[in-house]
Amino acid sequence: MAQSRGPSTTPCGRGPPPHAFGAGRINGRRLRFSPFPPIWPPIMQIPGHIDPVTTGTVPLRGGNRIDLIGLTRDAIGGVLVEAGLDAKAAKLRAKQIWHWMYHRGVTDFEAMTDIAKAMRPWLTDRFIIGRPTVREAQVSSDGTRKWLLAAADGQEYEMVFIPDADRGTLCVSSQVGCTLNCRFCHTGTMRLVRNLAAGEIVGQVMLARDELGEWPKGNMAGFGAGSGPDPEDEDDEEGGNYTADGRILTNIVMMGMGEPLYNFDEVKGALKIVMDGDGLALSRRRITLSTSGVVPMMARAGEEIGVNLAVSLHAVSKEIRDEIVPLNRKYGIDELLKACADYPGAGNSRRITFEYVMLKDKNDSDDDARELVRLIREYGLHAKVNLIPFNPWPGAMYECSSPERVRAFSNLIFKAGISAPVRTPRGRDIMAACGQLKSAATKPTRAELDRIAEEKQAALG
Ligand code: SAH
Ligand code: SF4
Repeated sequence: MAQSRGPSTTPCGRGPPPHAFGAGRINGRRLRFSPFPPIWPPIMQIPGHIDPVTTGTVPLRGGNRIDLIGLTRDAIGGVLVEAGLDAKAAKLRAKQIWHWMYHRGVTDFEAMTDIAKAMRPWLTDRFIIGRPTVREAQVSSDGTRKWLLAAADGQEYEMVFIPDADRGTLCVSSQVGCTLNCRFCHTGTMRLVRNLAAGEIVGQVMLARDELGEWPKGNMAGFGAGSGPDPEDEDDEEGGNYTADGRILTNIVMMGMGEPLYNFDEVKGALKIVMDGDGLALSRRRITLSTSGVVPMMARAGEEIGVNLAVSLHAVSKEIRDEIVPLNRKYGIDELLKACADYPGAGNSRRITFEYVMLKDKNDSDDDARELVRLIREYGLHAKVNLIPFNPWPGAMYECSSPERVRAFSNLIFKAGISAPVRTPRGRDIMAACGQLKSAATKPTRAELDRIAEEKQAALG
């Protein structure tokens, strides 16, 4: 349950005096052992060149107990040491807990059968392995599923699962709301409330596995160092005795609420756990991170996370992109395409995907299609274009291009030798399609929407 904020005990009003804490910060969260509930995690700043909003705090789930979700092996070892284990024992236990927690989806220490029986209650008294709370679960007529989730502080965010014949894709959120204000995007009408913590991001994937009932079963054979895939080896996809065959959740896209590159560290921490062979063991080739064009963070995303990159381009002229993706005023098309060309690993083996939302009479002419081809060639990009029919939402200012226009646009790009499939909208009936996510229960008026848009524009400078 959400924890209420306690009274401030320091002059700055941010929490208890430093000596009350033991291990300091782990994964951006301040951890401690004390008789009081941990309600003073740090204020998070959004990294990047635009820092218009200081995000809220992330209370921990579990009262006095520490929620281990989102912690690395070392961090788990750290909290075990802080709880009283010696370093060697802590290291072994951390490895065991990591495996049970991330690879097997276990949330109950009693189920960790290779941990001594007498030790399990000791762990239960001090730690929990949490999940986001499901506030609402919906299923679309096309099989798409959407969950409204709540964090420990009651903040809400959404995740979507899209089943296909040959794959199952989980669309994961990185922020509650968004600082940016792409004019066609429902999430963009929300203020940014806060960044999601690594545990809240990886928690979405873990919850999806719970809901889909697909944690690997079987014995512990192969458990331990070296049992998983080598993250550096693109061909070594699966970990241990665990294969992708028959899996339901096969792919992850960071395309839910928020701009993942404005929450870089937490997104990176979460995806490292997702890719770890003894973690969730999903290949980096099955993960795509989508950005609206946060140029200064793109190289780091390639180097430090190394997943597929999707770029929300949506327009080929400064005038139109400035209007519909206001971040373009900060990082223009040339700068963005240069960063795409420099994206580590970009090449035939790892094509960049350009997302292009089809907006009637806005960005959908034959000339726009030709200019798109010209730009892709000018920057020598190995790219694919995903054409996304605009998904409507209440109060949206745009209409979707006609099916004939979308087809003509797609054909022009295909004729130039560039793949440009038209995405079939999924989950529109439950507002689960691209750009329809929004967790705020309030329905702002047009004037309020305009005010939020103005605030965000001002923040761009
Ligand atoms: N913030 C990131 C990722 C989340 S949005 C980004 O902007 O890339 C995921 C994709 O959905 C983006 O390409 C986004 O531009 C697109 N999108 C947003 N609103 C949409 C809408 N109403 N219809 C279709 N696609 C939309
Ligand atoms: Fe934010 Fe992406 Fe929506 Fe733009 S499209 S407002 S960056 S979530």
